Amino acid sequence: TITIGVLALQGDVREHRAALESAGARTVGVRRPEELAAVDGLVLPGGESTTIDKLLRIFDLAEPLRARIREGLPVYGSCAGMILLADHILGGTADQRTLGGLDVTVRRNAFGRQVDSFETDLPFEGLAPGGAADEQGTVPDGATGSVHAVFIRAPWVEDVGPGVRVLARIPDEEAPGIPAAAAGRIVAVQQGSLLATSFHPEISGDTRVHELFVRIAKG
Ligand code: GLN
Repeated sequence: TITIGVLALQGDVREHRAALESAGARTVGVRRPEELAAVDGLVLPGGESTTIDKLLRIFDLAEPLRARIREGLPVYGSCAGMILLADHILGGTADQRTLGGLDVTVRRNAFGRQVDSFETDLPFEGLAPGGAADEQGTVPDGATGSVHAVFIRAPWVEDVGPGVRVLARIPDEEAPGIPAAAAGRIVAVQQGSLLATSFHPEISGDTRVHELFVRIAKG
């Protein structure tokens, strides 16, 4: 069984662990370098990226985590976790740093103050249509399923490098509660064993994004 850590400094740790366990992984909370060293993959939950950045440094996790990402550790970042994985951020604080690894530019708090949070259904590539992976755990390449996505003061991906696969965008059609400027914006990406979403699948009761990550982590 694969062991997936969930960074347990801030955020929805319990929800991520539950989703990963129903996707067939063993899980462990990660707060110390020894715990990080023992995992086969890691989830960076949402929260406040500036706070998590500071805590990573205080807990002596920032450098070991950067090193493991360079070595190919599978990591899934949701919301603030997406910001932490990004090589470049817009709208960060002056001293904010990221772990990096994902060749994207992310805009923090991109959807604007007037719409702190919203929910919408998105087509998401790599998810079986309307359901989980089949019994063998396989999903046909390019299979697109609809996912109910919850955005909370979320970032979007403003720019992607050549090795980055776009998995989901905000639909182009206008919808109530979604700012017009968000149309077509990238909100889920994959680059090798790194996966990131602007939204929070762990609170929607749908475990398909976690199943996708477990498949990525198993290689
Ligand atoms: N706005 C937060 C940040 O900048 C992210 C919000 C979230 O993770 N839900 O880190």
